[in-house]
Amino acid sequence: MASKDLSSLTSSELRSFLNSFDTVLCDCNGVLWNVETPVPGVKETFQKLKQCGKQIGFVTNNNVFGAIGVYKNVTKIDSEFEIDSIIVPSQPIIAYLKSLQFNKEAFVLGSEIMKREFVEAGIKVSEKKINTTGQIRDLVNELLVDNENIGAVVVDYDIHINYISLVQACVLLKQKDMLFISGATDSKVYYAKNLILPGPQSFLNALIDVVDQKPISFGKPSLQLSKFIEAKYNIQDSSRVLFIGDSIRQDIEFGSISGYQTLLVLTGITTIADIKDTKNASQIPNYFINSLGNLSELIENKLGL
Ligand SMILES: [Mg+2]
Repeated sequence: MASKDLSSLTSSELRSFLNSFDTVLCDCNGVLWNVETPVPGVKETFQKLKQCGKQIGFVTNNNVFGAIGVYKNVTKIDSEFEIDSIIVPSQPIIAYLKSLQFNKEAFVLGSEIMKREFVEAGIKVSEKKINTTGQIRDLVNELLVDNENIGAVVVDYDIHINYISLVQACVLLKQKDMLFISGATDSKVYYAKNLILPGPQSFLNALIDVVDQKPISFGKPSLQLSKFIEAKYNIQDSSRVLFIGDSIRQDIEFGSISGYQTLLVLTGITTIADIKDTKNASQIPNYFINSLGNLSELIENKLGL
């Protein structure tokens, strides 16, 4: 089905749209801000949505800032939000490991903040240091020993990832009963209109190709993350959730597979042409709007709220 432009809805259609959801889940980068620059009007839109009784949460694949870093940025836009409204992939990963009563160490290809979140939650993080002479043979020999304490390989966005850490992950994934877990699976990271950076999926693909295993994913789009959100927000009817994002692959697909309604904003990575080009029906949003900031004006102008 074709996506509807929210700004073209009549007043009664806009009212029905607003009445069709109770919970709003929102991606961050590309929706609320672009790297450091806030998207204008977002605060006003949140105020209108709260005024209409909507519960609002933020679901980002950003484990680089961690929940606390994302929270700081969200409160720069609207200081009324609580830290509890931020969801990053490390949270469902930690919940999953705890559900398994995981008591080994996790080898984490991720940010220092993500590792700290694991440690604070009682999950041990491997700190095995590798000395390398520059010879592959010596490197592998060193990586093959002292691994019995490690029980999981977790791959997320690690800006210090290198050949040695990828080899280390390969060696570990050949061990019996090693868990293979991924967080963020973005192949591209939006930095600016003309600058897209490689995302963690680029490195994850290299690993998957070599080890011939697929990780259990906990970032957008994954059903593991939906299960975590449903429990956290006590969601009984997923069709009464609106997911707002700027990426058709990460956000819209996540919203679709979770049974949510989806709204694409055009302030980030996706252009209107991308919606027309995609062959994947789950990446076609129900609605689109130029900017989340425009929604407050629509509500005000068409509904007088
Ligand atoms: Mg985004």
